[in-house]
Amino acid sequence: MKTFCGRANPTTGALDWVEESEEYDYHQEIARSCFADMLHDHDRNEKYFKGIRAAVSRIKDRGERVVVLDIGTGTGLLSMMAVTAGADFCYAVEVFKPMAEAAQSIVKKNNFSDKIKIINKHSSDVTVGPDGDMQEQANLLITELFDTELIGEGALPSYEHAHQHLVKAGCEAVPHRATIYAQLVESELLWRWAQLQPVEVEGARLVPPPAVGRCPGAHSVCDIQLSQVSPTNFTPLSPLCTMFSVDFSKPVSSAFQSHSTSFVAQSGGRAQVVLSWWDLDMDPSGTIVCSMAPSWMYPQPTMAPWRDHWMQSVYFLPVETQVAEQEELSLTVCHDDYSLWYSLQSHSLQDVRAKTLQSRPSCTCQAHLVWNRPRFGELNDRQRTVSYIAALRSVLAEDRVCLSVSDGSLLPVFAHMLGAKKVFSLENSRMSKQVIEEVLEANSVKGGVALLEIRPEQLTSQDLGGDQISVLLGEPYFSTSLLPWHSLFFWYCRTALAGLLRPDASILPCSASLHVVAVEFQDLWRIRAACGTCEGFDVSPMDEMVQRSLDFRESREAEPHPLWEYPCRALTQSAAVMTFDFTQCVPEQPSSSRGSLPFIRIGRCHGVALWMEYHLTDDVTVSGGLTQPISEQGTCEWSRHRKQGVYFLRSAWDSSGDGGAAVSYSFTFEPSLGDIKMDFSITDQ
Ligand code: SAH
Repeated sequence: MKTFCGRANPTTGALDWVEESEEYDYHQEIARSCFADMLHDHDRNEKYFKGIRAAVSRIKDRGERVVVLDIGTGTGLLSMMAVTAGADFCYAVEVFKPMAEAAQSIVKKNNFSDKIKIINKHSSDVTVGPDGDMQEQANLLITELFDTELIGEGALPSYEHAHQHLVKAGCEAVPHRATIYAQLVESELLWRWAQLQPVEVEGARLVPPPAVGRCPGAHSVCDIQLSQVSPTNFTPLSPLCTMFSVDFSKPVSSAFQSHSTSFVAQSGGRAQVVLSWWDLDMDPSGTIVCSMAPSWMYPQPTMAPWRDHWMQSVYFLPVETQVAEQEELSLTVCHDDYSLWYSLQSHSLQDVRAKTLQSRPSCTCQAHLVWNRPRFGELNDRQRTVSYIAALRSVLAEDRVCLSVSDGSLLPVFAHMLGAKKVFSLENSRMSKQVIEEVLEANSVKGGVALLEIRPEQLTSQDLGGDQISVLLGEPYFSTSLLPWHSLFFWYCRTALAGLLRPDASILPCSASLHVVAVEFQDLWRIRAACGTCEGFDVSPMDEMVQRSLDFRESREAEPHPLWEYPCRALTQSAAVMTFDFTQCVPEQPSSSRGSLPFIRIGRCHGVALWMEYHLTDDVTVSGGLTQPISEQGTCEWSRHRKQGVYFLRSAWDSSGDGGAAVSYSFTFEPSLGDIKMDFSITDQ
């Protein structure tokens, strides 16, 4: 069945009525789910299997039948492990219907249908009794309901309910226990994601609004591949602290709790950030441990298992505080049913507890709602600011009237500080208008920029006080962009504003280009690779389901990933495949580009990386992708501020690197859709 959905097109900015099959979102969810990543996570699977075998044996040794409750069975994997280990019966509960169906066919294919009952319900709706979903309460509770923050997917309420209704007292649980670890650090790099730092503009200093400095920041957890943040990027102020453990074999509470750990500061510095991860003890004695520690915690970093479905968390303290070496401090973690937050107390203060917050702090200044964390990082990137200021200086003169089009941008403030006659800025929301207003106020230049909450196509000469625009500015940055080329929205804005531009108006950036390089991923390939068998179980129905969802669209699509977190090696040179001339309006006709990139390095090509570069002027460029030339070995350095596009090949290609084969590409920019269609194939040269 087809339905019409109103969707704001991220490139054209228009509200398009797109004909979508009802199944579109569902297929997207499956195609982009992390099931493949979980099934490829051998470390996790192996430890679950060991833990399950040990728990089944303990119950059998007591002479009891083993009745399992597997909450969130997904593919049915953990239930199949339990039956293989000797469990008598499994109730496998899965709330997501397509997954429950996949579990059904996987369980059947592996001949476990008589011992595993799939229940397509949320566990809190499961009933027990002669007519219930479960005939009896279970004595082995198996779950994998964790996210990077451990409890963010609702593990605590699910456990709480299961212990009250679905399992027997004294049951065994796999995992048996989870423990959360935290380390307090000073990190210039990470703190740049939370707080706006002063910016030097031609000898003047642009300071952040005081409200931003006082704000505890964004509500959401910051989950990242911490292994990709080098230990040179932070200074530990505390040892690694064990914050708290949850025993899953006993009744669990999802009510508010706080846990404090005291320590002596091992170094003086600015207490800014808490790095955190957890581990799972699969058995009561803690001999089977599945750890989320980042690779730099391992004596041999290459031994660290890679996974994307569980990463590490970064928590930003509500305020930065100076601590002295040897100072006695307490780190407190609080949690409610779904989230965690941290605070730091000094023992020299009277009431240590007084400063712990009963509810999760959230943004009070709005800046953390307008700017997400990578965006804070981008605004705080001094080198980038220098490029924009150099470019601005080259197009600005005293008589210039500037109009800026970018969400929550500091460019119009820079233009004012650099002496433009008049500066206007189109803000996409009341909130971003307010935040930029506060920046102006904090720097005593209120009124220096006229902030207009008007869409480009609705802007009139009257809104500009009768002036014509001599400089149109953009970073460009739009909060609605998901893929790199969505920032072409700037081009559509420029086209809508054509009638308000002076004939000799400067456009900054004057053009943009789309770049590609074929790559071998160190690990990211796992998230889209078929599994076949997992720990000896045939999970191919899951692969087929993902494949059907990927093929649901006629052409496969690129997906956004922050590649600085996912190392890859270039197997070809990079190339600019399309250029977009912002000095002209968006053309009416589609444009295409075809070509090929010969393989020049040996490796396994999993796909191509795509990004945009913005040519601010003829000689100043900022890149949303590669920030350094590709090294001789193919090492790539990626911008941390923007996500790049990744197009996964249907099947990986082994390159011999002799130039005998190439990645052939074809791109078509469809101006009416604001979309770039792409296709790749491997060809012999
Ligand atoms: N057990 C599988 C899948 C884990 S992913 C494995 O280890 O490979 C977690 C799954 O749990 C998801 O499919 C999600 O839809 C489901 N889920 C989460 N909470 C649930 C709940 N309370 N009841 C039923 N299903 C739940």
